[in-house]
Amino acid sequence: MRLSLQQGLAQMSYYGPDFADIKTGWYRNTSDENYAAGRRILDKNWNTVCDEILTVYLERYGTFFTAFSEDIVRDIDTALGTSFEKNARYYEYYLATRAYEIEKTRRIWIDSYNDNQDRIYICPYCENAFPVLDCHPNVIRTLGIPPTHCRTCDYVVRRYRDFWDSDVKRRVRDMMRSIDELRSCEICGHTYFLKDDIFTYGSFGKRFVDCLYPNLFFNVCPKCFKGVFNDYKRGSARTKLSRLYASPDVSVGSG
Ligand SMILES: [Zn+2]
Ligand SMILES: [Zn+2]
Repeated sequence: MRLSLQQGLAQMSYYGPDFADIKTGWYRNTSDENYAAGRRILDKNWNTVCDEILTVYLERYGTFFTAFSEDIVRDIDTALGTSFEKNARYYEYYLATRAYEIEKTRRIWIDSYNDNQDRIYICPYCENAFPVLDCHPNVIRTLGIPPTHCRTCDYVVRRYRDFWDSDVKRRVRDMMRSIDELRSCEICGHTYFLKDDIFTYGSFGKRFVDCLYPNLFFNVCPKCFKGVFNDYKRGSARTKLSRLYASPDVSVGSG
């Protein structure tokens, strides 16, 4: 198990009542129009129905409710016929402030935050360990609590959604577990690290292919990566993809 560098950052979590200094109550009192204008819009129509909807989210997600601010405000808009989501800027501060003002939700929030302090999850792809409190809200919202996998692996997994199967899953897992290991390019022979190019894409006509994709099947450095996909058009013999067909295991998708 490898522990992520992020572990030391739990104090800066998106989720505790320290988030955005909510517990100081600044949002309720600020005269800064950036915030006060939205607050007035919400105050005008906010009622016990809103508190109840907010409470449901606290009960369901505990300290992670802030990841669902958009869903909460949409539920409230649906119930009240309001347009808070559209018109009340920074409504997420309002929701968090309100959650801290109501005794019941404040208790749930603080208890849940404390309960999650030491909670770690291990990504099944890269096998890195992450504090759940450090998860990006989008990851919590879309991948659950704790998330099914980490944010970086999610960027990778999502690319291959259209042809995802157990074989691709295994290849992604093997690749992400060795992402920071030195590799040797099967085309040019130079060594490279894949971790520096997780977000590198190349365009091939109207198509975009990420640098990791060919590496699901064999070792191709970021420099040779474009040559591989230009196989049918140009390039020297040594960058020809056909060289790699010699291996019976190799199969490349439509890319
Ligand atoms: Zn991961
Ligand atoms: Zn190369």
